[in-house]
Amino acid sequence: MSAINHHTPDALLAAYAAGSLPQPFSMVVAAHISLCLECRAAYESHAAMGGAVLEAVDEVAVSDALKDSLLAMLDEPATEARPQPRSGVYPGPVMEALKGKPPRWKRLGMGTRQCILSSGPEGSVRLLYIPPGQAVPDHSHGGLELTLVLQGSFSDETGSFGVGDLEVADETLEHTPVADPGAPCICLAATDAPLRFSSFVPRMLQPLFRI
Ligand code: ZN
Ligand code: ZN
Repeated sequence: MSAINHHTPDALLAAYAAGSLPQPFSMVVAAHISLCLECRAAYESHAAMGGAVLEAVDEVAVSDALKDSLLAMLDEPATEARPQPRSGVYPGPVMEALKGKPPRWKRLGMGTRQCILSSGPEGSVRLLYIPPGQAVPDHSHGGLELTLVLQGSFSDETGSFGVGDLEVADETLEHTPVADPGAPCICLAATDAPLRFSSFVPRMLQPLFRI
């Protein structure tokens, strides 16, 4: 595996350590941390700082039982409740969402496929399968989008992303990720709002695919 060049921004690591990230994003951050020693270390120092704040609160009023349960929440984000080992290209947090089974892909056209892991008011998180040379349809974002590469690589207007790299996009970025030559690109992607495709046909198909 080549070195990871695109990491989880510190603000997201801090929010993840505090347990305040919506579930779709916390799954992607957990998956990145499971692949990246650098972000794992940064996350652990955030979690320790959270613990220190709770220690200080303890002197005022908080019971030991409450403090223990708060610390346990910090130690075990929701997506790590039932630890699963990494399997193939899929990190533990993804295997938990898949309940240990292989992904059930649905075709999106042009050889691309997706497997929705969860979808709700907080946003959605899905696996994407993109054949070499194929683009994820041109889209803009209604909110935040996190994309973690699990296999292969893709490039867009902002750079190139290989295994373990995390791309952070928001409504200001209009980009066209294209899978690089080689193995099909498999990504874990979370969004907090439905993607708005800028071309007409994919927009019509949007309700079908829940993109
Ligand atoms: Zn990292
Ligand atoms: Zn995007």
